[in-house]
Amino acid sequence: MIGAGVEGGAGSRRLADGTTMPLLGLGVYLVPDGEETENAVRWALEAGYRHVDTAQAYGNEASVGRALREGDVRREEVFVTTKFNPRLEDPVAELERSLERLGLDAVDLYIVHWPQGGPTWAWPGMERARERGLARAIGVSNFSAEELEVVIAAGEFKPAVNQVKFNPFYFRRGLHDACERHGVALEAWGSLTQGNEIGDSALAAVAERAGRTPAQVLLRWAVQRGVPVIPKSRRRERIAENAQIFDFALSEGEMSALDGLDRTEGTDVALENPWWTTTGRARGLAGRLVRSLRG
Ligand code: NAD
Repeated sequence: MIGAGVEGGAGSRRLADGTTMPLLGLGVYLVPDGEETENAVRWALEAGYRHVDTAQAYGNEASVGRALREGDVRREEVFVTTKFNPRLEDPVAELERSLERLGLDAVDLYIVHWPQGGPTWAWPGMERARERGLARAIGVSNFSAEELEVVIAAGEFKPAVNQVKFNPFYFRRGLHDACERHGVALEAWGSLTQGNEIGDSALAAVAERAGRTPAQVLLRWAVQRGVPVIPKSRRRERIAENAQIFDFALSEGEMSALDGLDRTEGTDVALENPWWTTTGRARGLAGRLVRSLRG
């Protein structure tokens, strides 16, 4: 499943539908449209990234497109993902708009951003987008094992990818194993814990032994098991640092020490506080409040 081949010695993963996804991509969530997104994408391409992850909801597709056009790297060398915003109605019409903003004929991967309104309603539109050649592969995001099974049973094509919050602290082994069983590639968002656990002492100990930074260890932990990562940073030196993950390996002991940090008890659920539900939003807000009171 994991082969060499992407520039810079990075790995890639073959998806069920035959497309190949580089294991390392740049995420641009919360990177403002304009110069900041353009710079981040340009620096990532210079550092050897060949994969960019954006979304309709991020509002920065136009800047991603500008940065892709402006450099020396050919379009076909870069894997571009965007996501359907399920608050909108028509996956095909919204992808046409995305492509216009991106300045592309097709994306490599188009995913349902979250299962708002249920896991299946958007899928026929996603399949049409693929059939019309607007997306090479289609997938989902923030789908639990159960939701994944429902969409697989209902659709003609199964999702190639399920993009979920995944790192040693949110290992979700049950969901990871369900994805593997169904031949769906689990892709990690939040692979750097969104910065929250980067100072953890157990992580620091592994990083020190490996002679690497905590960020590199977190990313290596995922790619070493074939999970693609899309770390986000707007800073050039961090973008470069996050790419240096294919020239070392973690030992079995280091991998299991990191596995042991899991707080999800091996769940097959995708998200503890789903932001598209009232309960999820309330729980998320309460958690943020408690963290801020604790300082
Ligand atoms: P992340 O885990 O990639 O963390 C990013 C944060 O980590 C940065 O803001 C910075 O604070 C820190 N960081 C980055 N490099 C570092 C380094 N070398 N050393 C120390 N700290 C460092 O979080 P994310 O941005 O939420 O997730 C990555 C990408 O995943 C997003 O940009 C987006 O493309 C995607 N995403 C998807 C969903 C979804 O619902 N599908 C949700 C969130 C994010």
